[in-house]
Amino acid sequence: MRTAPLEPAAAADNLLTAERPVQATLRRLEEEFSQILGAAPAAESAADPVYVTRPFLPPLEEFEPLLRQIWQTRILTNGGPFHRELEARLRVHLGVPEVALFNNATTALIMALRALDLSGEVITTPYSFVATSHALLWSGLTPVFVDIDPVTLNLDPNRIEAAITPRTRAILPVHCYGQPCDVEAIARLADRHGLKVIYDAAHAFGVRHRGRSVLNHGDLSVLSFHATKVFNTFEGGAIVCADPAMKDRIDKLKNFGHDGETSVPDVGLNGKMSELNAALGLVQLRHISTALARRQAVDTAYRAGLQAIPGIRCLDFAGEGAANYAYFPILIGPDYPISRDALYDALKHDGIHPRRYFHPLISDFPMYRTLPSARREDLPVAAAAADRVLCLPIYPDLDPGVIARIVRRIAQP
Ligand SMILES: *Cc1c(COP(=O)(O)O)cnc(C)c1O
Repeated sequence: MRTAPLEPAAAADNLLTAERPVQATLRRLEEEFSQILGAAPAAESAADPVYVTRPFLPPLEEFEPLLRQIWQTRILTNGGPFHRELEARLRVHLGVPEVALFNNATTALIMALRALDLSGEVITTPYSFVATSHALLWSGLTPVFVDIDPVTLNLDPNRIEAAITPRTRAILPVHCYGQPCDVEAIARLADRHGLKVIYDAAHAFGVRHRGRSVLNHGDLSVLSFHATKVFNTFEGGAIVCADPAMKDRIDKLKNFGHDGETSVPDVGLNGKMSELNAALGLVQLRHISTALARRQAVDTAYRAGLQAIPGIRCLDFAGEGAANYAYFPILIGPDYPISRDALYDALKHDGIHPRRYFHPLISDFPMYRTLPSARREDLPVAAAAADRVLCLPIYPDLDPGVIARIVRRIAQP
C-alpha cells in the first residue's frame, strides 16, 4: 500500500469517510463469519494474491460417502441416481417446474436453442461473457446486438423493438451479475412479435424477483455451475423449463438425440452431467445458504466502504426479492482521480486481481465485429460500461481484512 497521499486533503478526507463505516461493517462481518463458521476464516496472508473469486467447496468428508457409493454402484453417468436426485432437489430449492442438468452452460445454451428449433436472427446483449453469443454462432444463428440499460446493465427492452426484422426468431438476454432483466417488458415484446425468449441465467442461481425465481421467466433459462459461479459442481449447467414435454426433448438432445436404443430423431450433443459432478452438487446444495449469507456480508461491507468515495458507483440490485451477490461490479466515473485501467493496475500491483467483466464487448471480438449490429456507436451504453467497470473480489470466505485493504486502496488510488 502506497503511503504518500496523492491529493493530500481530498484523499485523506475520502479515506476517513470511507474508513469509519467500513470498520464497523467489518467488525460485524467478522462476528457473522465466526457465528456461521464457528471460527474466523483463515486469514489470507498479505502476500497471497486475491482473485476475483475463489470457488466454494464443502468439507471433503461430506463428499467421500457419495464417492464410495459411485465406486460401489459403478454408475458413473447417463442419468444415474445422483443426477436424478440433484434435478429433484434443484426443482425444490429454486422453485422451478423442470431442471435438466448439463455438463456446462455453453452446451446447455446450444441445446436450448436447438430445442426451440430456431433459425435466423436472435437479439442479444453485447455486454456478457462470450459464450452467450458463441452459442448462437454454433447454432447457425445470427446475433443482433442491442444496447443495454444504464442502470441494470441488462438488455434495454426499449431498444429491442427497433432491432426486430422479419428474420428475428428469439431474444437471448442475460441476467448480468445476477441482476434480473426487465422480464415483464421482454415478455410483452416477445408476445407481441411471436418471439421465443431464452435467458442466459448463468449468473442468476437463487435470484428471486417478485416472489418467485427469476428462472421462471422466458421459454427456457440456462444456469452455469462452473467453478467461478455462485453454485458450482466444478463444471456444470442446467436448462430450466416449465413443460415436461420440453424437458423430455432436452434430455434426448443432451444424449446425442437418442430416443430409445435404436432411434435417433435429432442431432443432439453429449451434454450429460456425470454422477461425480451431480454428487458434488448435492453436497454443495447443503451449504448454499451459508455461502450466500457470507457473500451478502461481503457485499454489505464493500457498499459501506465505497459509498463515500467520489467517482465510484456500486450497482444496486434491480430486482424485487433476493439477490445472489454473484459479483461486485463498480463503475469508475469521470470524477474519480484515475482511470479504470490505472486502478486495475494499482490493485494488481498490490496483489488484488479484479476483473474487467465485460470488457471487451462481445461485439468487439473478431467473429462479431463485422456484424451490422456490432458498431460501437450504436452500443454507447455498453461501450461506456465496458470502459468503466471493475468487478471486485467477492466470495464466501473473503477475509474482512482484505476487503478493508481493497476499500482503502480505492479510496486512495
Ligand atoms: C459462465 C458463463 C457462461 C458459460 O458457462 P459454462 O458453464 O462455463 O459453459 C455463459 N454465459 C455467461 C453469462 C457466463 O457468465
